Amino acid sequence: MNSVKEELAPHVQDINRALGNKVSEQEIERELSSYLNVYRVSLDTAKRSIVKKHGGNPATLAMGVSKTLRELMPGEQSVNLLARIVSVNEKDVTVEGGSKRILYGILGDPTTTIPFTAWEPLSVPLAKGDVVRVQNAYTKEYRGQVQVNFGSRTAVAKEAPTALPEYKPGVGQPYVGKPTPVRVVDLREGGSNVAVTARILSVERREVEVDGAPKAVFSGVLADETGKTQFSAWKDFTLEADEVLRIEGAYVKSWRGIPQISFDERATITRLKPDLLPSSERLNVSPRMWIEDLADRGGAADVTVRGILIDLREGSGLVYRCPECRRVLRKGACQLHGEVKGEPDLRVKAVLDDGSGALTAVFDRELTEALLDKTLDICIASAKEAMSTEIVRDELADLLVAQPIEARGNVTSDDYGLMMIVETAKLLKVDVQAEAREMLEGLEGSA
Ligand SMILES: [Zn+2]
Repeated sequence: MNSVKEELAPHVQDINRALGNKVSEQEIERELSSYLNVYRVSLDTAKRSIVKKHGGNPATLAMGVSKTLRELMPGEQSVNLLARIVSVNEKDVTVEGGSKRILYGILGDPTTTIPFTAWEPLSVPLAKGDVVRVQNAYTKEYRGQVQVNFGSRTAVAKEAPTALPEYKPGVGQPYVGKPTPVRVVDLREGGSNVAVTARILSVERREVEVDGAPKAVFSGVLADETGKTQFSAWKDFTLEADEVLRIEGAYVKSWRGIPQISFDERATITRLKPDLLPSSERLNVSPRMWIEDLADRGGAADVTVRGILIDLREGSGLVYRCPECRRVLRKGACQLHGEVKGEPDLRVKAVLDDGSGALTAVFDRELTEALLDKTLDICIASAKEAMSTEIVRDELADLLVAQPIEARGNVTSDDYGLMMIVETAKLLKVDVQAEAREMLEGLEGSA
């Protein structure tokens, strides 16, 4: 395995540099190998995750790794690609008063196709069928789809047409080698050719549009003893709720930070004995998780967190929403629709800390009314009487700040950190600080 170690050495040093040498090379090497071999994520994803986990900025990584188009996520600042120009067109757009010619079209590689836009003149002309190596491109999301952008820092160079196999719609690149067994709790964004043994908890057929044509997708929730996850099957495997399957040759994508498993015609499905895993009822629970682990995973569906509410964020309490887009108004105005007559609502955005980390917990009107034991109408009346909406927020702060709580819901992540959309919550009497101490002691003991 020494040669693998040597291959990884420059990347270990790259991570080390990005973290200002504050983490030992041995630890980085151990983590990198675990991300690559246990979680089966790409080298690029692994490097970024490790840097993020230790509080560094992934953009400071110097050694870029080429990604497949399927691995791209919205909001990436610097990506390197090897792709084919599937189509390319010119158009004039108005930018800051002036007119400017840009290129737009479709990029393809063996994993998928994706739209691109070149905002600056390129050093090489692009034509359909060209294979290009792209460095320092960035990605955005437009109407739910990832788009690649070439900006002023982006370098585009042509490669031999044989450098890349052609993309065939609906057929992914066949996997090389044996699939790696992964537990649901260990699924990580970017993982590919993984094998999961799980029970289908629910499944439904949906129609979606792929490249302008309708396509059936079978999605739902599956689980093993370690957790639950959403899945999408891009082929009709005649999946049914309750059955226990071995799925080999699946891949992992994230939606708002929550890892989900997908599989298509490359996957092999084996039906197993139903008693191999606990019943649907026993699997369909919300596992208790530490926020540190949620941050490490990048989010999770339907989990339970216990911690202390340490602060209420701005926009908690009695708020007014835009009747058109539901955004919370600031000084009577919607960011998008200007001055509108706002509709009253109640919500709490609180910082929940469990000793391992913190997230923003969002409680909707129903939960907030239950916490306050007051209806929205009563809150409006007391705000009118006090001539300030602050009174509701103050009351919530008195009630919630420093309060131990157990909250259940989906945890998503973005640039602002982790956010839980709380489904159910209960105020606790337990000593969560003692629990957090125990966890830290446990960690130190195992190190
Ligand atoms: Zn609005």
